[in-house]
Amino acid sequence: MRGTIVTKDIAAASAALQSGEVIGMPTETVYGLAAVIDSHEALTRIFDIKKRPRNNPLILHISDVMQLDEVAASIPEAASALASAFWPGPLTLLLKKHPSVPGIITAGLETVAVRVPNHPVTIELLKAVGKPVAAPSANPFGSISPTEASHVHKYFNGQIPLILDGGSCAVGIESTIVGFENNIAVIHRHGTISEAQITAVCETTKVHSGGAKPVAPGMYPRHYAPKTPLIFSNDVSELLQKFSDRKVGLLYYGEKPAGIESCTVTCSLSKTSDLNEAAANLYTSLHRLDACWLDLIIVQKFPDDGVGRALNDKLKRANYGTIIT
Ligand code: AMP
Ligand code: MG
Repeated sequence: MRGTIVTKDIAAASAALQSGEVIGMPTETVYGLAAVIDSHEALTRIFDIKKRPRNNPLILHISDVMQLDEVAASIPEAASALASAFWPGPLTLLLKKHPSVPGIITAGLETVAVRVPNHPVTIELLKAVGKPVAAPSANPFGSISPTEASHVHKYFNGQIPLILDGGSCAVGIESTIVGFENNIAVIHRHGTISEAQITAVCETTKVHSGGAKPVAPGMYPRHYAPKTPLIFSNDVSELLQKFSDRKVGLLYYGEKPAGIESCTVTCSLSKTSDLNEAAANLYTSLHRLDACWLDLIIVQKFPDDGVGRALNDKLKRANYGTIIT
């Protein structure tokens, strides 16, 4: 295959999808590697290109809540309430799958993951295609998710024909995933839509306990990882002092931490400590630091609540656990 084209041409992206190609697709969370629901070959290619284990299901993207009946066999009341409250938006619902949804998408599970993305380009693309589109994040399995078309190009140039450029992802981290047990909402993956926001809509909510075999790839112990060793901590200044003789990149938010002068590169995720802004900047900053040949990336821990909890969760999984001394 020749080099991958990065384009804003929605009609070209739609034509590629409809002819059974895998393409890079923008969403408000992260970029996806997209294929239409009914091309087994293209769906298979997603797993091959990503080197994603086949037992990790994909999220289906639909243009409108009206399309939900095509992919879900039943919709609990709590799910309808959450869809009305947060769609289009960064919330994925796990619903009993419609018999027509191919098993490769759900990895053989009885539930299907589905959401309506909140990005005008994606919605226009989905409408043009006219059928649901499956898309996991457009990164090799385990590496940092892409938040710009250039990240997708860096990962998959030559392996896909086209990347639809929708600009930088406004949300910047993966969607919150919610399943249902007897009409009770169960959070499977944290995202920018917080537990408190879910609970405000459906009064009973619980957080999935995980277990030995993660049900969502985002819950793998090591995921979202840069190549550079990464550690994160409440006390960044102590770490900066400890590693002052190393090439260190620092990601922080709010006030500049003491000792910042010893860093080779620094990125502020949000000067005003706005956690949504920090989420929007997290992966882009990690991509940037990971290209700097650093010995270590140090990240300031977030408050363990709401969006901060989702960010800490990503960082925990990006942590190699190898602290160089
Ligand atoms: P990604 O788009 O790369 O973040 O991956 C899609 C996410 O949706 C993964 O975390 C999947 O495990 C999750 N997912 C998709 N379908 C299901 C399902 N039926 N049950 C649980 N998680 C799912
Ligand atoms: Mg992913």
